[in-house]
Amino acid sequence: MNGQQHQLDGMSNGGKHTSWEPSSWRSKPIKQPVHYEDQAAVGKSVGKLQHLPPIVTPTEIWRLRRSLEDVALGKAFLLQGGDCAELFDYCNDEAIDAKIKLLLQMSLVLIWGGNKPVVRIARMAGQYAKPRSSPMEMVDGKEIPSFRGDILNGAIDPDRLVQAYFHSAATLNYVRAQLSSGIADLHKPLDWGLGHVQDPEMQKKYTTIVESISESLRFMRTIGADTAGQLQTVDLYTSHEGLLLAYEESLTRKLKHPSNRNVPPKMKPAKPPKVSPLTGGALTNPSIQEPETTGYYNTSAHFLWVGDRTRQPDHAHIEYFRGIENPIGIKVGPTTTTEDLTQLLDIVNPGKETGKVTLITRYGEAKVSELLPKHINAVRETGHVVVWQCDPMHGNTRSTTTGVKTRSFAAIFSELSAALRIHQECGSFLGGVHLELTGDAVTECTGGSQGLQDEDLGERYETFCDPRLNEKQALELAFLVAGSQRG
Ligand code: PEP
Ligand code: MN
Repeated sequence: MNGQQHQLDGMSNGGKHTSWEPSSWRSKPIKQPVHYEDQAAVGKSVGKLQHLPPIVTPTEIWRLRRSLEDVALGKAFLLQGGDCAELFDYCNDEAIDAKIKLLLQMSLVLIWGGNKPVVRIARMAGQYAKPRSSPMEMVDGKEIPSFRGDILNGAIDPDRLVQAYFHSAATLNYVRAQLSSGIADLHKPLDWGLGHVQDPEMQKKYTTIVESISESLRFMRTIGADTAGQLQTVDLYTSHEGLLLAYEESLTRKLKHPSNRNVPPKMKPAKPPKVSPLTGGALTNPSIQEPETTGYYNTSAHFLWVGDRTRQPDHAHIEYFRGIENPIGIKVGPTTTTEDLTQLLDIVNPGKETGKVTLITRYGEAKVSELLPKHINAVRETGHVVVWQCDPMHGNTRSTTTGVKTRSFAAIFSELSAALRIHQECGSFLGGVHLELTGDAVTECTGGSQGLQDEDLGERYETFCDPRLNEKQALELAFLVAGSQRG
């Protein structure tokens, strides 16, 4: 903010006009607060962040908004995935390459399944802050303070704010470099690695899908349909939970709207005429309303979402989220009332811009059938056109008898297929999926074609927070979703 006070007027909130600035969340009650001991050090870190260049730009942010508008209208499908908690340590070429490749392969399968373009967003390059239900957790039989993500981890050191920026920038720099160097070049044969699929029926089904995809790619090449370069590279956007607002505020900048932002401009508030203190008559004409040429952009990621624990309509996180131009997500769970949901949409998107908001539903397989139809109907009545995305992970977490946090592949697929079916029954459609996954061969979720059992989880259980699908389970989920999309 460079010490200036920026004001954004014209936000209608329940009929009232209220101003907004990147710091206005500070006057609201906040969930999941962070207490730094050394305020001077926080000031130093924030000051540094405020002078660093944007990690992403308004042009990119609006390109994603355009794509999400397509998703909201049923013209594209959204795939979002990555770690629950990204560690600074994951900022290395192997881990990043594995995730890019996995998201690319999953998206090819989903393009085949839905017969429409797929928009890819990684939970990556900034997913460093975690909300926690309890301040303490058990690790290896010992009770220790809960892991709150690498941006806070340990002694809540304000220097980690700056480290988060640099890890985020380094990760995205490598993603961009790899994409432009052809990591996603579809001319190269892809290794689909289906050897682990034991069930011959499944093996056959997946092989048929892969053959069909490879055949389509060959065909496009033959007829020269890739000459414009679409097959050489792909877009991959970044996202994280906007939890640590001091960090998000520091990277929120007032910037010129790009030319690809083709929505009717918001108008600057008209200045009232000056009034003579003697006669009470107007001394100047009221100013003519001019269009806003700038807006507030969170430049730390293309897409941010607000978590299930911090989405109270009158609290700090929603106050922050309502002011930014980025596309945003809101987690919707079993405790979200329809009143809260419709109020939230009006607060964060008063102009009812199509696809600005993604509702990320995460009820759990046991509750999805009861809750999702109510939410779909309530949103329809408001006139908001949202992206409906299913997060089949967070409502399906369970503990094994030995206390290991896991999720079963069957429960994940069950919530996802229920969401697909319910949307269809309600005259709506599922716009996308939100998954916790990794490109590595971890053993954190049970089930899938490898048949992982509770007893196998110890082999490679590496997550610092929630259990992730490994690369085989993630790809298999894409196969199954594509299969249901094809009917
Ligand atoms: C998450 O996405 O990692 C998360 C904490 O989800 P939720 O807010 O839905 O619990
Ligand atoms: Mn999680």
